[in-house]
Amino acid sequence: MAIVVGSGAGGATVARELASAGHPVLIIERGPEIPDQDAHRHYANVNAEVKLMRTFCLGGTTMVSGGNALRCLEQELRAHGIDLSSEFAETERELGVQELPDDLIGEGTRRLMDASLDLGLPVRKMPKFIDPDRCCTDGRCSLGCPVSARWTAGEYIREAQGNGARVITGQAVSSVCVRHGEVSGVRCGTSEYSDDLVVIAAGALETPRLLRPLGIPTSPLFCDTFATIGGVYPDIAFDRDVPMGTYLAHDRCLVMPHYSRQLGALLHERGETVGEGDVLSMMVKIADQDSGSVGETIEKGVTAADARILAGGVAVAGAILQRAGVDPKTFRTAPLRGPHPGGTARIGVSVDNTLMTGIGGLYVADASVLPSAPGAPPILTIISLAKHAARRM
Ligand SMILES: Cc1cc2nc3c(=O)[nH]c(=O)nc-3n(C[C@H](O)[C@H](O)[C@H](O)COP(=O)(O)OP(=O)(O)OC[C@H]3O[C@@H](n4cnc5c(N)ncnc54)[C@H](O)[C@@H]3O)c2cc1C
Repeated sequence: MAIVVGSGAGGATVARELASAGHPVLIIERGPEIPDQDAHRHYANVNAEVKLMRTFCLGGTTMVSGGNALRCLEQELRAHGIDLSSEFAETERELGVQELPDDLIGEGTRRLMDASLDLGLPVRKMPKFIDPDRCCTDGRCSLGCPVSARWTAGEYIREAQGNGARVITGQAVSSVCVRHGEVSGVRCGTSEYSDDLVVIAAGALETPRLLRPLGIPTSPLFCDTFATIGGVYPDIAFDRDVPMGTYLAHDRCLVMPHYSRQLGALLHERGETVGEGDVLSMMVKIADQDSGSVGETIEKGVTAADARILAGGVAVAGAILQRAGVDPKTFRTAPLRGPHPGGTARIGVSVDNTLMTGIGGLYVADASVLPSAPGAPPILTIISLAKHAARRM
């Protein structure tokens, strides 16, 4: 049997791969099983200097994703002897990755795309794992898709269950058991589950807490810090656009259309009378420095280098917004957030290039193993790495 701890992008993939190869699998997930549209109730964010985002529920943080599907860290992984070309292609096929058709690109996104092109900036449509035939374009992807049009790890978990995998929800693994240098199971409080193959996929903010007591070295945290800048654009109804329908790569940043409710609140504070549909805005996301740490407390701030890159990206986003018709006097910037915590149990530090630790039978398969900040959506890479590892377990 195999025990998989956590059921997000990494854990669900390993569980599905092992179950489809005929292995008995037990998934242990600390959060509950939920309907897709309730995902926003299960955010378990951490208020460091940069707010770190994740969810605790079956399917993990994939339950709130924007459906963005870029390959990232290909070169960095090759440097570790990992070639994911075939796993990427397979993942894209399974998730149905494609650009959204023009009729699902909202008016606000279209205006931002036109403004970028006017400025000579090479904007592109974002590949998505969203089924265009089911998408209801209500802009609530990061709250939980109301029509299940976007792929989530729930799909892989259901496939794993179809192949006999067992799922326990509402139990947090508290420690990993080791006997004579080999893994022997996990503990959830007073309950113990025994097995000689254990895969930790509890996300980059929890996985190092399970590894460190075993003497496994861990590594610093990055999170792809982002800022959202925007201002008033009456009646644009951008709150209902599919988020991040396009992207522009600029000097270690991605600049993307992105609605943030916080901007509306900030504009209200400054005396602007705006409704939810009167704001046009963009996200600037960077590959940040790995200056954070996960210990008793979790720390993540902004270095001077991060601040410079963010400022450059925000200047580009401001120029696009102004060109699209937003009055720059109304510009506001929402507080910094980190949607892709990772790097805390890296390949080359905590695990080898099959994702195995120095303890026999103990693997890690989540965003913790990423070798550096992707500055881009990591789900395709986490899934592809988890497939690569599962086939070698
Ligand atoms: C709002 C938002 C939008 C995003 N959009 C995109 C996007 O469009 N495209 C993209 O590629 N990426 C996106 N991401 C990032 C992506 O969702 C994450 O990087 C990815 O899901 C991380 O996968 P993971 O397996 O490392 O962790 P997770 O998916 O977070 O899974 C970890 C799981 O482990 C469980 N767990 C934690 N501790 C324990 C324990 N002790 N015992 C048992 N279970 C435990 C958790 O409950 C969780 O289910 C987004 C993130 C956010 C916050």
